[in-house]
Amino acid sequence: MIKEGLSLTELKKILKKWQTNLLLKDWVLSIKIVEFRRKDFRQSGDIKVDLKNKKAIILLTNKPFKNEEKVIVHELSHLLLWEFDHFCEKIALKTNKPFEGDHDKYMGKLEETVSELTKILISSPVALRPTATFATGSRRAKPTINGTPNTFHGTHLLSWATRITKRRLL
Ligand SMILES: [Zn+2]
Repeated sequence: MIKEGLSLTELKKILKKWQTNLLLKDWVLSIKIVEFRRKDFRQSGDIKVDLKNKKAIILLTNKPFKNEEKVIVHELSHLLLWEFDHFCEKIALKTNKPFEGDHDKYMGKLEETVSELTKILISSPVALRPTATFATGSRRAKPTINGTPNTFHGTHLLSWATRITKRRLL
């Protein structure tokens, strides 16, 4: 199977960074590249969770069509909400068949919540922790500023730089 987009090594680095950023160090996380075969839906990722043993496998498509870091953060957001999600899902399934009525609505709302959370995480200072030592695609390396890691860009780079400058001026 040919993997388009980022290599498995690059993806593992991204996973490691987000595992640290999202305080999931006590989890054993891994990535598996797969060919999703659903005809009704173009799938970019999925996550298989073994809550008891704190193990999870992130499944990623071999033919990515979305930013793969966002897909990883999306799947990890599912993991953050896992227990809560399953508690709510069970309640919805008491009175509804899978993917019907309130269960269907719940699944829609879950995806909306996870997408919002992903957006926030990707653009928030948590993404700027010094563990970020890789550079890929749109996240190109920038010159090092006062010894901080060189992976920040755009507004993040500015806010980080401004903060450091301010601290030095005070
Ligand atoms: Zn999802």
